[in-house]
Amino acid sequence: MPKRSTPALAVTRAGRVAIVGRPNVGKSTLLNALVGEPIAITSPHPQTTRETVRGVLTVGDAQYVWLDSPGFHSPRTELGKEMNKAAHRAIRDADVAVVLVAAPADDGRNQPGDADRAILADLPAMPTVLAMTKIDRLKDKSRLLASLQSLSESFKLDAVVPISAKTGDGLTALLAEVRALLPEQPNLFEPDTLSDQPTRFFVAEYVREQILKHVAQEVPHGVAVVVERFDESEQVIVIDVTVHASREGHKKILVGADGKMVKRITAAARTRIERMLEREVRLNVRVRATRGWMDDVSRLRALGYGGRSQV
Ligand code: GDP
Repeated sequence: MPKRSTPALAVTRAGRVAIVGRPNVGKSTLLNALVGEPIAITSPHPQTTRETVRGVLTVGDAQYVWLDSPGFHSPRTELGKEMNKAAHRAIRDADVAVVLVAAPADDGRNQPGDADRAILADLPAMPTVLAMTKIDRLKDKSRLLASLQSLSESFKLDAVVPISAKTGDGLTALLAEVRALLPEQPNLFEPDTLSDQPTRFFVAEYVREQILKHVAQEVPHGVAVVVERFDESEQVIVIDVTVHASREGHKKILVGADGKMVKRITAAARTRIERMLEREVRLNVRVRATRGWMDDVSRLRALGYGGRSQV
């Protein structure tokens, strides 16, 4: 009797990919474009991302687990130090690094600078793809080549890809380059997983997103958002959130005249949270002035920053 042939086991590639780059280079925008869902919140202000946020993308036989990290910068506060530590942790946990550098502008401004080079120089020896992003801003593409060439000569790079997270240009090429560097191993998450971050994390991020949208100028990055209660035992999900502002003045701005501002923030965040949970939500937002929370390490930990703890 002829032997039945055993079907070849499908080989899959899966791994953690750290997206690194200086603040405001476009890391969160890229992660969102890749995963197709606004997971990491974005804003035109630097240092919006405080935690390593994961998105999972499974395409065919490849699974990409994205680690988005807060940008490296010179820390001035305890919060800044925690953010740098989180960036290093993201890289240590990763199989592949995607280093984001912004394309220079048409007038030659914004050439990749010392900050970009320092990040490349600090990277441990690991598979590395350089993605030059924001190419949509550049009409004269020859500038791109000169910039890319100078970086490829100075650093050991496995691939170099020009992209635009805004238009989607080059993202397929980026995925192909990263795929080739992923280890051969089974998927790390169920293929339909979008993220392994707990729901509470997103709830806090969506509230913070609305605060940034409404009062970013007046309250520059001075809030922490903590989910105190998440109760889904009834038909309507009840969520209590406390917003910690670092100053009494900021609290007043957040609350607004007759509580109008906090009402607006709450309504917008609730709509977004309901869309995510596909359930009706009652969202209660309380604003507190917690003086100096950005500089108090133990308080930072209690609020969920640092380590792997969650908001
Ligand atoms: P991060 O701090 O590195 O996470 O940066 P963000 O993703 O928050 O992006 C910072 C700013 O750059 C935002 O205003 C984005 O809209 C903008 N941005 C990001 N990617 C692109 C891109 O590909 N093209 C253009 N023109 N702008 C971008």
